[in-house]
Amino acid sequence: MINKRQTLVLNAGFEPLSTVSLRRAVVLVMQDKAVVEQSHPGLRVRAASLDLPVPQVVRLCRYVRVPFRQRAPWSRRGVLVRDRHRCAYCGRRATTVDHVVPRSRGGGDTWLNTVAACAADNHRKADRTPVQAGMRLLTQPFEPTPADALLLALNLRDGDALPEWLGVRGGGTAAVSSAAAG
Ligand SMILES: [Zn+2]
Repeated sequence: MINKRQTLVLNAGFEPLSTVSLRRAVVLVMQDKAVVEQSHPGLRVRAASLDLPVPQVVRLCRYVRVPFRQRAPWSRRGVLVRDRHRCAYCGRRATTVDHVVPRSRGGGDTWLNTVAACAADNHRKADRTPVQAGMRLLTQPFEPTPADALLLALNLRDGDALPEWLGVRGGGTAAVSSAAAG
């Protein structure tokens, strides 16, 4: 069974890197970061000014170094990408990175000690642990997935996601909703 909602990403040298959502794969092709190597027969992605075969496999135009086998290096931007720019305390848009255990108390710049946070919550929490500040983490920090590492290496920004209404249609009848992709 072919999974139409996941696309395999090859590096410029044809080594498989990761799978990404169909939405991400289309963005990569639209931004000229990747070319379609293989597509689903008869299925196309159609929107206002877009008409593409539904990619099964895309290949990056430029070679990227993706740290898969070792841990991805920590970065503030990486934390925001991993957490999808959602504040770990309130769920609203995050633009800052909070150290769960503050650096002044020995907390480090690590994936498991940092979360995305909105400026207001970061300011409110200040130099305290969540318990001391009476604030609860909605989700626990985690090591980034290979897909996160790939998006970081490709320099994709938060705004690069395609609009939710962009569907995938085949032959004008069979509709595959890419919005349902988990
Ligand atoms: Zn917040």
